Amino acid sequence: MSHVFPRHCHSDLPTAVRGDGCFLVDAQGKRYFDGSGGAAVSCLGHSNARVASAIKDQVDRLAFAHTGFFTSDPAEELADLLIANAPGDLDRVYFVSGGSEAVESAIKLARQYYVEVGQPQRRHLIARRQSYHGNTLGALAAGGNEWRREQFSPLLVDVSHISPCYEYAERQPDETVEAYGARVADELEQEILRLGPDTVMAFMAEPVVGATLGAVPAVAGYFKRIREICDRYGVLLILDEVMCGMGRTGHLFACNADQVAPDILCIAKGLGAGYQPIGAMLSSRKIYDAIRDGSGFFQHGHTYLGHPVAAAAALAVVRELLDNDLPARVAERSADFAGMLHARFGQNPHVGDIRGRGFFWGIEFVADRDSKTPFDARLGLAGKLKKAAFAEGLVCYPMPGTRDGKSGDHVLLAPPFVASDDELAGAMDSLARAVTTVLEQVES
Ligand code: PLP
Repeated sequence: MSHVFPRHCHSDLPTAVRGDGCFLVDAQGKRYFDGSGGAAVSCLGHSNARVASAIKDQVDRLAFAHTGFFTSDPAEELADLLIANAPGDLDRVYFVSGGSEAVESAIKLARQYYVEVGQPQRRHLIARRQSYHGNTLGALAAGGNEWRREQFSPLLVDVSHISPCYEYAERQPDETVEAYGARVADELEQEILRLGPDTVMAFMAEPVVGATLGAVPAVAGYFKRIREICDRYGVLLILDEVMCGMGRTGHLFACNADQVAPDILCIAKGLGAGYQPIGAMLSSRKIYDAIRDGSGFFQHGHTYLGHPVAAAAALAVVRELLDNDLPARVAERSADFAGMLHARFGQNPHVGDIRGRGFFWGIEFVADRDSKTPFDARLGLAGKLKKAAFAEGLVCYPMPGTRDGKSGDHVLLAPPFVASDDELAGAMDSLARAVTTVLEQVES
């Protein structure tokens, strides 16, 4: 009997024993193409020799040194490399162990910034509905998925939620894309005014919404307008690139596509590429300086901040991404990826939308394509797709639609950047067979 506390108490999971390029192999020798990189983590696949050897070298040299006493070469070099490639005036990197910690740190940093500059009443966070920013209590409060939050309420952070930028579901038929983007961005201004501008500390959003909506980029111009609104009212912009960052959407930082720079940027997942658990929060100079010149101490911290082995792994990952121009390669191959998806699924009457950027794509399933009506949630379509794809040897990342019926079940694809065209085509075949099986089941 297993003593591991699993995610689902009644699941009967195979044991993964080996990684082989873009494949995972279980104890029975069955191979699974990692079509979602777990959850947009494994951007380099599972057998990158450079990262493996960087980890070994670092363990041999120095496994751990507490950041209360020391800094370390890999953490310093990784911070330099990230900042050299980061947008705007992001200037300092705070290393943590994952995405939720990065988001949690960002919320606390924003809060402390306003304390340091003498505006402690600014403690309200605005985020978006149908969003996920992590599972610790602060990050959970930021997220806009009610079903994740309800049993833990009341949550610890003052948060309100505005609409996401979700063109497929929410743009009106007579509305231009530009007008739609402006309308949903302006909800931020209305919410700031409703709350009182001097009470709002920050707005948080994902440049490309990952798990909750299924790879939904904002329409052109949305984030520029968001940035303008934040600047107008002194509200910090926190971008959560935990899922969509680190080359996944064809830029090292996803916000480059929107030509905006945040005040705080969160990354994780692809930063360690699954070789080590690591996340980071990048802070603008103005925020860092306010803390340095104020109390001189960010009131936050974890034992494993800037862990040398995790930092060495991430340093090798980022070098691998940059030396091989992988974000640009992902951008170049994005159209082919989309083409494969449209060829396989575009004509399916239950596929409402195919959207994404780079190697980050979502397929949204609907009961009725014309009215965009989702399937009845009780059918559990997403769960069935996950199971059927897994049986076909494909790991993909399905999510149920929202309970309010505003978005349908979807499948997220986020394969390793090193996947070959043949491997991608094989994954599409597996997914197509899984989709056919499941749709036949739910229609019968
Ligand atoms: N933010 C986003 C956008 C995510 O997708 C996730 C995880 O899926 C997180 C934060 C939390 O990251 P972690 O699971 O590493 O704590």
